[in-house]
Amino acid sequence: MKSLLKYVDTFSTIRNINFWLYVRYTRRPASYLLQQQSLLVHSAAPCPPCSAIHECGHSLYEQGRNLEYDGLPVSNSAGMAIHESQSLLWERQVALSRAFSDYLLPKLREAFPGAFPDGKTAEDLYAALNVVRSPSFIRVEADEVSYAMHIILRFEVERGLIEGTVQVDDIPALWNSKMKEYLGVVPEDDAQGCLQDVHWSAGLFGYFPTYTLGAMCAVQIFDAAKAAIPSLEDDIAAGRFAPLKSWLNEHVHKLGSLYPTADDLMVAVTGKPLDPQIFLNYLKAKYTELYKL
Ligand SMILES: [Zn+2]
Repeated sequence: MKSLLKYVDTFSTIRNINFWLYVRYTRRPASYLLQQQSLLVHSAAPCPPCSAIHECGHSLYEQGRNLEYDGLPVSNSAGMAIHESQSLLWERQVALSRAFSDYLLPKLREAFPGAFPDGKTAEDLYAALNVVRSPSFIRVEADEVSYAMHIILRFEVERGLIEGTVQVDDIPALWNSKMKEYLGVVPEDDAQGCLQDVHWSAGLFGYFPTYTLGAMCAVQIFDAAKAAIPSLEDDIAAGRFAPLKSWLNEHVHKLGSLYPTADDLMVAVTGKPLDPQIFLNYLKAKYTELYKL
């Protein structure tokens, strides 16, 4: 496991790869990404390269809107849960997939000679990128499996605040007891606990759930894309991302807020409303295989 973690350390230093991917995806100058610093603040990704890919997904959604309706309400996004689904789909379903490791490893070897010995395989890289760590105190460092518990905790606290059943002074103790209950760890101080996020101090109440709603939508939408594009896995392994991007442009991006709710959009795109069981099945299948459970 230690040798796998080394991969993660090395991987976290290669932001230039992100810029390259970004330019390829969006055909905009890499400097544009650097101007999007505010977007990076809310990234849910556990490693810097995934953060950049995540933010590219948000950009693709904005850029994929139907220009014919530019400026009209219908060209707005279909809400932040769908927005997060478009970033998380590229981050988790693409960049953290086994197929993407096939594509990425030769690029890493080329960019960082000697950093990835011959004995290391794409399978090793895939395992390193998807490592499930001991539960983290910090949401943005959490893995895909435990991430949702961080969101549920925050949702329960903010719902209590809005309902008046929780007072601000109650938050540190309530936070710590929920961390113990949901993740089995208690932060040493509030900096690693209830003060770690920017959201509440910025007035963003009700935003946290969009990360997990988006993660669930991403899995369901990606399943629909896989059914529509039989070669999708081979495409990703070969670095052909255009078929997926075009499919998303056509079936999600350009629809904007044509449908009254995110669930209506999900029915139009995937044939059914958001179904959490699809997300649970995905996590179970992926991590059962990865950890040979
Ligand atoms: Zn995001």
